[in-house]
Amino acid sequence: MTIKQSPLPLVELVVRSKKIGADQSLVVYGGGNTSSKGEILDHLGRTRQVMWVKGSGADMMYGEERDYPALYLDDLRELISFDDLDDETMVDYVTRALVDPTSRRPSIETLLHAFLPAKHIDHVHADAICALTNHPGGAKAVADALGKGFEYVDWMIPGFTLSKIVSKLKDSEGIVLAHHGLVVWDESSDKCLEKTHLAVAKADKFLDSLSVKPVAAFDHGDMPQSELNDLLLQLRKKLGKKQILRTDHRLARIASRKDCQRVVASSVSSADHMLRIRPKSALIDISLPAESIESYQNDYAQYFERNKANIQPGFSSHGNDPKVLLVPKVGTITTGNSSQECLMLADIAFHTHSVAARVIDSFGEADTIPESEMFKFDYWPMELFKLASKPAPAKFAGSIYVVTGAGSGIGRGIALELGRLGASVTLADLDEKGLEEVQSVFKAKKYLEPLLIVGDQSKEEIVSKTLSETISQFGGLDGVVINAGIGVSDNLEDLTLEKFRTGLEINLTSAFLMTKGAMQILRKQGLGGSIVYIASKNAFAPGAGFGGYSVTKAGMLQLMRIAALEGGSVGIRANAINPDAIFDNSKLWEGGIRAQRAAAHGVKPEELEDFYASRNILKVRVQTVDVAHSVAFLLSDESSRTTGAVIAVDGGVSAAFPR
Ligand SMILES: [Zn+2]
Repeated sequence: MTIKQSPLPLVELVVRSKKIGADQSLVVYGGGNTSSKGEILDHLGRTRQVMWVKGSGADMMYGEERDYPALYLDDLRELISFDDLDDETMVDYVTRALVDPTSRRPSIETLLHAFLPAKHIDHVHADAICALTNHPGGAKAVADALGKGFEYVDWMIPGFTLSKIVSKLKDSEGIVLAHHGLVVWDESSDKCLEKTHLAVAKADKFLDSLSVKPVAAFDHGDMPQSELNDLLLQLRKKLGKKQILRTDHRLARIASRKDCQRVVASSVSSADHMLRIRPKSALIDISLPAESIESYQNDYAQYFERNKANIQPGFSSHGNDPKVLLVPKVGTITTGNSSQECLMLADIAFHTHSVAARVIDSFGEADTIPESEMFKFDYWPMELFKLASKPAPAKFAGSIYVVTGAGSGIGRGIALELGRLGASVTLADLDEKGLEEVQSVFKAKKYLEPLLIVGDQSKEEIVSKTLSETISQFGGLDGVVINAGIGVSDNLEDLTLEKFRTGLEINLTSAFLMTKGAMQILRKQGLGGSIVYIASKNAFAPGAGFGGYSVTKAGMLQLMRIAALEGGSVGIRANAINPDAIFDNSKLWEGGIRAQRAAAHGVKPEELEDFYASRNILKVRVQTVDVAHSVAFLLSDESSRTTGAVIAVDGGVSAAFPR
């Protein structure tokens, strides 16, 4: 058996591209593209000239050979004889040139690579190169920085026409595409990469050498966390949907510039960025955050109205909301379905706005592509294709929940279910090891990274910390699951005051504190919310010898009802779940409780699960996942008309029917 060897140019391409992809000042998240040319034997054994080019939307940092589809070069080069080709026809022709028709779709800039003769080609959206072009004197700055050997091409949307223009510049050292990026080539892969680095270094050096550079004035000082949390809640309220708001401080200085409006007006540094962060970011006036959002929304709506005649059939507005908010004294706040998505947007915003600030400081003014061109790109089906391949968002994408007692038992099961459904969750527990174990399961299952809070939830400062860190981390709150609790056994005559009080503190006072804190936040945030109490079958059907526990759970139900009454007018719902006899991963049965309950029922400790199962109507064991399903229902909008209710998850215990 022979092992199929990968062609050398392809191997070199992948290695080179990974180096480029790892440097965000060259390309961010799927931007830019690279190619190599070489020979292969086709399916009939003929030697054919091919080009490997980056797949559309592939991220160079992680790209493997399969992300660089091969295309027959003669089929591509044949196309140069056309005078014009619209995008769809071009994509059709390009797709027909694929060696393997099932491979991923090649870059929209494929023909630019095919029409240039060089063996290796790099095309990057480098910050320093864009900084050279994004002002009225771009052509001169490029010549001054890179020398006369480089050609300058005015902004033009990528496609067939740009590819033809570039093909005529094949005898130059390289090409700068205004408001877009750099193209260089070489017969050697290593030299090609060197040329990319050299051009970028020259651009950087030139920008640094400019003496114009006035030091922009900016507001000093950081915003205190409590103030920032308030701002996050106000912004989330105004934006009006469940999403993550992630704070990033890298742009604090630029966002605090007195002329930050000019930075924002410069739009994105490379057109490709607008696909993810929209053509413009919102500048937030911290004393009028809601008005700032409104003004952004109005501006976008007007921009859409002005240009909508040019939209392709089948496309509608992306909506008027910003993805990136620039906040003085803070930096950026980005919005998305997860912290990871928000980080991606923050990374792109960091590069795009740093370039704009550098352009203003180096050249005195910045400019951007005409609005009609911006719209064309904003609604360009060829770029939107990259996003269309994204999977549908998970049920709880953008939702933020707190689960107490998440380190074991029912809380652990609830946490994992919310993680599975795509929620961003804060996991609180006294047991740090337990929390870390749950965190490792989250990681293994590729759920969104949870926030861990270790501490005693019957302490006011711990509850307050749990909630405030949740807002700092995720930008808001959609619900809490009050689950932390302990078992308290003993007949009343034997129950010590200390044990009784401990039960009250841990099971009921903690529930009160979390209810109070969560309701204050949810009210301020103005998007409603859901509070779920994990009570117990004991609340309705208490057991002798378990009074200290049953009392707290009955109290919890009453607390839930009051929360439902008081929160209803602002859409805060409160509901409870009464589970019974749940054993998996539960610590409730530790410390002699299992033996004590077994003795109370006249069975052996190891028979307790079966005893409880035999006692319920459905004759089933009840597990944490069963509780978790009901919690997910009560947190979700599917239960939007339900408040003040109790759902029994106990296999059916007639004595404990909710009433
Ligand atoms: Zn490009």
